[in-house]
Amino acid sequence: MQTFSIAIHGGAGTILKEDMTPELEKAYLQGLQDAVDAGYAVLEQEGSAVNAVKAAIVVLEDNMLFNAGRGSVFTKKGVQEMDAAIMDGADLSAGAVAGIRNVRNPIELATEVMRNSNHVFLSGKGANDFAIKQGIKLEPEEYFYSQFRYDQWKAIRDSDNYSLDHTHHQIEELMRDKKFGTVGAVACDAKGNIAAATSTGGMTNKKYGRIGDSPIIGSGTYANNHTCAISCTGHGELFIRSVAAYDVSCLMEYKGMSLAEAMNEVVHKKLIAIGGEGGMIGVDAQGNYALIFNSAGMYRAARKSTGESEINIYL
Ligand code: ASP
Repeated sequence: MQTFSIAIHGGAGTILKEDMTPELEKAYLQGLQDAVDAGYAVLEQEGSAVNAVKAAIVVLEDNMLFNAGRGSVFTKKGVQEMDAAIMDGADLSAGAVAGIRNVRNPIELATEVMRNSNHVFLSGKGANDFAIKQGIKLEPEEYFYSQFRYDQWKAIRDSDNYSLDHTHHQIEELMRDKKFGTVGAVACDAKGNIAAATSTGGMTNKKYGRIGDSPIIGSGTYANNHTCAISCTGHGELFIRSVAAYDVSCLMEYKGMSLAEAMNEVVHKKLIAIGGEGGMIGVDAQGNYALIFNSAGMYRAARKSTGESEINIYL
C-alpha cells in the first residue's frame, strides 16, 4: 500500500499567542485534532481522498469555533452566507456553491453538485433550491448563530469596514480578540488519488454578494492527481487574482518543482508581491504534504501513514 496522508487548516491571519487564552487554544487544538482524525480514519479504512476531506470538513463546519457552517460570520445584512468547494484529483471533477444559507454542511452540498448535477458551480437561491431537491440537511438561522460572531459584526456593521477572520482591516484594535477561521482539507489516499475541499462563511460585514476564493476552482481549491491538491485561506481577493491553487499545480507541472517548492513560491513570493496575506495546505500523489503561510499564524494539522503528524497554530 502506498503512503496516505491528510492535512487540514482552520484559517490563517494575525493569530498571536498573546491574544489567546489557554482554554481557547485548547479548544482550537481539539477541534483540529478531531477533524484530522475523522479524515484519517476514512483513509485508514481505505476510503477515498474525496470522502476523507469531506469527513474532516464536516467536523470543522459543525464546530462553532471555525468560520464555516455553524458559527459562520455575519454579512452586512446580518445573515450568514456560506461558500464551499470540493475537487477530485482523479478525474478533475469538482463541485462548488456560493452565497448559500441554512445548509448545515455546505461541503455536502458542494459534493452533491460534483456528483449529481451537470454543473460545477451553483450560487444563492438556485443552490438552495438544489439542496432542497437533493434532500441536503437544512437548519434554521439560530443554528448558525454564535454570540462572538454577532459581537464581531455589531462592532463594524454601521461602517463600510469588512473583516477577514484573522486579519482585521482598519479595526485591528476592536477585533484583536476575535480570531476565527475558514476551513480546508487535502488528502492523498492509499490508491494515490488526491482531493481538496474548502468551506467558509467569508468575511464579516461582506456585502453586494461578495464571494472570496474558497469556492473558486483554481483559486482557493484545486486537485489534480498529476500535481497536487491545494486548499487556501487568507485575503480571498488576492488569492483570486493570483489563481493561487492552480498556480502551485502549474509550477509543478511546467517547471518540475516539488510540492513544497511550488507552494513556497506562491505564498512567499507571488502573493506577497501583491499584498496577499494568508496560507495554504497541499498534498501530492506520493502522500507528501506541506503547510505554508505568510501570516502570523495558521490553524493547521496533518497526519501521514508513515507516522508523521503535526498540529499547530502559530509560526
Ligand atoms: N479566503 C476566505 C475568503 O476570502 C477567507 C479566509 O480564508 O479566512 O472568503
